Amino acid sequence: MVYFGPAGNDAKFYADGNKSSVDAPRWLAGLGLNAYEISFGRGIRMTDKTAEIIGKQAATYGVKISVHAPYYINLANNDSLEKNYHYIRRSLELLALMGGNRLVVHVGSQMQMTRDVAIRNCKQSLQIILERLHTDGFDNFWLCLETMGKYTQIGNLDEICELCALDTEHLMPTVDLGHMNCLAQGQLNLEAVFQKLAIFPKVHFHISFIEFGLKGEIRHLTLADQQYGFDLAVVMNFLRLRPGNDVVICESDSIMAQDSLKLQSFYLQKNIEV
Ligand SMILES: [Zn+2]
Repeated sequence: MVYFGPAGNDAKFYADGNKSSVDAPRWLAGLGLNAYEISFGRGIRMTDKTAEIIGKQAATYGVKISVHAPYYINLANNDSLEKNYHYIRRSLELLALMGGNRLVVHVGSQMQMTRDVAIRNCKQSLQIILERLHTDGFDNFWLCLETMGKYTQIGNLDEICELCALDTEHLMPTVDLGHMNCLAQGQLNLEAVFQKLAIFPKVHFHISFIEFGLKGEIRHLTLADQQYGFDLAVVMNFLRLRPGNDVVICESDSIMAQDSLKLQSFYLQKNIEV
């Protein structure tokens, strides 16, 4: 089974009179969706109490919760290791209260380092963080390392695969096809992508169309904006061939739930012509 759902709250969610994320699982289930990604990108402001309520709602309505960790985590920066650990640990605590186990993490950026040094630092940070999480009693979790959309960020698909190989029990890729299409300047080779993913039984996907320039990602669009798009029928055909433990989160601008439905219906039509 592949789970589909939005990152954050859709414009229609608010138009329908909903106020906060605790209402989201019920609303999403009503639409026929079964995944929901909550962003701590700009900070972790959720209380334990709210996380517990969302967790109950998610269980009641059969919605799989994932969380996006703060954007300011940078595993390449050794000076911020302590803070990085704190952000990841706190995100995982709240995620567990919500009944989920997938935490999406941006690995970091190159800053003034060479690419090799930055990646070596990321590996070391990840190893230290994973060890500390185990020491602190965390076990049922996945850090889903995301493929990024700007050249200065760490995380093209090869780098993410290399990092995930460090611990196949706790690291999986977040494959953001929109980001990858930005790095490929619109020439994303979906077949090559899915070939590389064959070694991962579980993958977390982010799917949206994203405007790009020479430095990569500029802004998220909707699936109706075909200019920066890629072939969703091909994506769905490859998804159907995978083991079926994947989650597809739609990050469209403002209509992410409505676009999640589009993706899901694409997936469920068994015979899309490519
Ligand atoms: Zn992200």
